[in-house]
Amino acid sequence: MENITESELAGFAVGAFLLSATIAAPKIDAFFSASQRSSLGMCKRCGNLRRIACSRCKGTGSVTEGGIPGFNLVEDLLESVGRESNASRVPCVKCAAKGYFPCPGC
Ligand SMILES: [Zn+2]
Ligand SMILES: [Zn+2]
Repeated sequence: MENITESELAGFAVGAFLLSATIAAPKIDAFFSASQRSSLGMCKRCGNLRRIACSRCKGTGSVTEGGIPGFNLVEDLLESVGRESNASRVPCVKCAAKGYFPCPGC
């Protein structure tokens, strides 16, 4: 671990941040980082990840069938802490269960 410099750690942090932000909150991410990315020479749409998180399934590849629109985030949070959801998860038809699309800007 001694070979990892601070700048490399910062790079990892930025990469992890961009990845998580792209998956978790594409709208917020696009709002505050589009200009930042273009100034860095990165793709405005995906930040050079070459993929766009699916807006329907939030990048998970599956959706909660019969769930309340806008309630999926709560379901995801509950699942992330290990709670089994009562609603059934079905593959997302919008992205063919991939969870993302190829970036149209790359
Ligand atoms: Zn999807
Ligand atoms: Zn792109």
